[in-house]
Amino acid sequence: MLDQPGYYRMKVGDYEVTALSDGTVPIQLHELLTNTDHATIDRLSALNFQTAVEEASVNAYLVKTGGKLVLIDAGAAELYGPTLGHLPESLQKIGVSPEQIDAVLITHIHTDHTGGLMQGNKMVFPNATIYISKPETDFWLTAESRAKAPEKLQRWFQEAADKVGPYLAAGKVKHFDYGKELFPGITPIATPGHTPGHTFYALESKGQRMLFVGDIIHAAAVQFPQPAVTIVFDIDSKAAAAQRIKAFKEAAAKGYWLAADHVSFPGIGHLRAQGNGYIWIPVKYSTSGLGQ
Ligand SMILES: [Zn+2]
Repeated sequence: MLDQPGYYRMKVGDYEVTALSDGTVPIQLHELLTNTDHATIDRLSALNFQTAVEEASVNAYLVKTGGKLVLIDAGAAELYGPTLGHLPESLQKIGVSPEQIDAVLITHIHTDHTGGLMQGNKMVFPNATIYISKPETDFWLTAESRAKAPEKLQRWFQEAADKVGPYLAAGKVKHFDYGKELFPGITPIATPGHTPGHTFYALESKGQRMLFVGDIIHAAAVQFPQPAVTIVFDIDSKAAAAQRIKAFKEAAAKGYWLAADHVSFPGIGHLRAQGNGYIWIPVKYSTSGLGQ
């Protein structure tokens, strides 16, 4: 594996945002994408000088706000092989230890976002409160819900129990009210679809806005130009597509930042509308952290 820098830092108004890499992993678009066909996937991938095997990033984001260190999503830990699970090293590179994290805001309980909460039996963020929407914990962490779930989802339920369960048992998981500020500048927004309690977190300061959008997008080459394309991991693919279409439209119209967990690191950029789809304009590389 190649050693790469694992962080990217910038300001959003008064607040500092650091994108942290958990690593990257190849995803097979032919097997995973739905509401499309192989020829379309191949054509759109080729336009991006890619094949139908896309190297997806797994990103997390650290926000310094109100004297607190707030992490948004937690990476995969050991669950998806050796190219992921690097969030602790990325944190180390910016001089932050996991014990210093005050809060982890979870976009949703899939283990490429919550796997990194636990390393074996050990809480990786022992001093943090974990914020997850109530619909999300109701779905993934209640016995009634698990009993009703199809066989293909049982693995995710087990991983949710393993990775989030210990924090829940220790009383460290908290819910929140949608639309109400949770930390200075940070407000959760309900975006059910990919999972029943999928949540965006909006960061606003001095007229700037960055929206942390979790799994609104997985395959950049295909889903930016065609946001109606869905993925097998969507619990409700229709609703997931509707959320994506709405989010992209608004981000392009208003010109604010998106921060997406699976878009190529740092996963931060703007959208420009083109035809029925969008073009992703990644954030400029900057060592000053002052540019826009
Ligand atoms: Zn994901």
